[in-house]
Amino acid sequence: MTTTRFAPSPTGHLHLGHAYSALYSAEYASKSGGTFILRIEDIDRGRCRDEFEQAIYEDLGWLGLEWQLPVRRQSDHMEDYRKPLDLLHERELLYPCFCTRREIATEIGASGHAPHGPDGALYPGTCRGLSKNEREDRVAAGREFALRLNMAEAARQAGPLFWEDAEKGKMTATPEIFGDVVLARKDIPTSYHLAVTHDDHAQNITMVVRGDDLFEATHVHRLLQALLGFNTPDYHHHPLVRDDSGRRLAKRNQALTLNFLRNSGVSREEVLRRLGWENWI
Ligand code: GLU
Repeated sequence: MTTTRFAPSPTGHLHLGHAYSALYSAEYASKSGGTFILRIEDIDRGRCRDEFEQAIYEDLGWLGLEWQLPVRRQSDHMEDYRKPLDLLHERELLYPCFCTRREIATEIGASGHAPHGPDGALYPGTCRGLSKNEREDRVAAGREFALRLNMAEAARQAGPLFWEDAEKGKMTATPEIFGDVVLARKDIPTSYHLAVTHDDHAQNITMVVRGDDLFEATHVHRLLQALLGFNTPDYHHHPLVRDDSGRRLAKRNQALTLNFLRNSGVSREEVLRRLGWENWI
């Protein structure tokens, strides 16, 4: 029995790409008599809106999906992320980073040959080498800080890691390509990588179905699972839905949101047909 999830962030209306992902995920669960979970990923309350969360329920219900209740909303569980951070801290894998975005950009610009990863230039490691005293002085002075993972040490401690990917087969995890990722932000006591990995474990997800745009992130998630003793689900990263000119959809493509299509009289059947999900009609 497979437990899958669809985990949108309520920062805008769902578009056809989200619908495809949700349908794919729900079908995986239903084929095995398993469970389909909906999770609201709203750690960044500044970017999330209640009306978008409501629209997620309405849009998915309109598509004909059913999910397990109650729905886990990440913002209701912010204290859950403390324990994994403490564990990583005990293993001396975290360090406070006081840098501003501008300082990071200046340092990268000055270095001339900054290594790049899937999310752009890697963090140059400025705060990694601060002494204990320097860290304590800055914290005492009220400087805000994020918590970063010492990637080289984390990858060394974890050893070789793999995951099973339904599209690509057995994958070797190379989380080093991301450098020292942020696991707790200055303004939020977690980050996307930590919250998603923690919750997939907490909700016993056995198959993560999501778009190809998140394929690379799995390198980091697999590492966190190993360091924190979490279960490793299988993954299916599906191709992204594109617009007529071949561009991937974004929440700003109003015309392809489910909300817009629904309100312009497009039927559920037409949407399912467009996505190639006639079998759900
Ligand atoms: N919340 C993420 C998003 O909306 C997706 C998380 C995931 O599927 O891993 O992009």
